[in-house]
Amino acid sequence: MKKNTLTAFLLVFLSFASVAQKSEKYLLRKASKIHQKIFTVDTHADAPINMMEMAGFDIGKKHDYTEDGTQIDFPRMKSGGMDAMFFAVYLAQGQRTPEGNAEAKEKALAIFSKIHEAIRANAEEVSLVKTPREAYRNHREGKLGVFIGMENGWPIGRDLSNLKLYYDLGLRYITLAHSYNNDLSDSSGDPEGEEHGGLSDLGREAVAEMNRLGIMVDVSHLSDKAFYEVLKVSKSPVIASHSSCRAICDVKRNMTDGMIKALAAKGGVIHINFVADFLKKPSNEVAISIKTIRTQTMKADILPEDKKKLNQELRQIKYKYPEDVPTVKDVVNHIDHVVALVGIDHVGIGMDMDGGSDVLGIEDVSKIREVTMELLRRGYSKKAIKKIWGANTMRVLSEANMTANRH
Ligand SMILES: [Zn+2]
Repeated sequence: MKKNTLTAFLLVFLSFASVAQKSEKYLLRKASKIHQKIFTVDTHADAPINMMEMAGFDIGKKHDYTEDGTQIDFPRMKSGGMDAMFFAVYLAQGQRTPEGNAEAKEKALAIFSKIHEAIRANAEEVSLVKTPREAYRNHREGKLGVFIGMENGWPIGRDLSNLKLYYDLGLRYITLAHSYNNDLSDSSGDPEGEEHGGLSDLGREAVAEMNRLGIMVDVSHLSDKAFYEVLKVSKSPVIASHSSCRAICDVKRNMTDGMIKALAAKGGVIHINFVADFLKKPSNEVAISIKTIRTQTMKADILPEDKKKLNQELRQIKYKYPEDVPTVKDVVNHIDHVVALVGIDHVGIGMDMDGGSDVLGIEDVSKIREVTMELLRRGYSKKAIKKIWGANTMRVLSEANMTANRH
């Protein structure tokens, strides 16, 4: 009798397990089908950091995250169903002197060249794209798209004619400041606090010139005051290229509900960032060890073998404290939050891969179907998924173009 009960239990358990397995397979199939049809774009990719600094790194070749810690290359974009990404021309803030500004411009131009060179070297599979029309056409031709964004307006210096120069090289958004205040704007990260009380006069002029040209303004990293000022000044809707929700994870880099509502009211889009610290607050112990390692990996002169070792340490911390590491559920909690707050038209995805993106199970760009599967689990329709994965972003870029054409 006892044995029979046990067998019965076991059978019920096994059939549940197999139903769960089947439904997972079904979800993956459904997600893959969706990725075959829709156009997906991510608004913040730090691949150029590896392209510039990692000896021998070739973005046209497939890499292994467990080997070198890299998260983006063209073959992995292809296998993941990631159709286009905004590659970031990123510079950490340096000296705000004429010499410093000249150095920033030179470095930025070198990153533009590197991106153009990589696209040329892979021209059969990849194109530089600058408008939604180009991006959609490119996608229909079965090619990957690279958009260009700039993280930190430092390379503009005090000369706004640089904006046209960068625009002509393909630039379509600028994050006005990074972790420190600059000549354009206050940053949410500056330990000295605010300097301009939002934007500087030059910052306001820069926004006007960006509107005139059709470069989107990116409010990620900015101080709250600077954010509200951008909204007031900009004639086009704006984006947060990689920011999450402060109501869920209380850090200054994230956006409050009030900010998200104001952004949406002006037609903008917040793109959820996959950096662990912006998704879910870890315990202090873990936060400190992760931060210490990450500061070391970000050093410009780090040797590849040291970087590899540090990345392995980072992964070990994850396995030691799995409850502290965000999963795809945390990512979609942020998406749900924005949707509940302002509807489906104002949320997108900016994973910050190769810049600290850190979600368990989405180690690199080949794994992004996990996001789509979780959206399906929570009942999002294909139409809604299409908006989240790119259509919302493309709408803002179109509007930036329309504003430019009106000038
Ligand atoms: Zn950033």
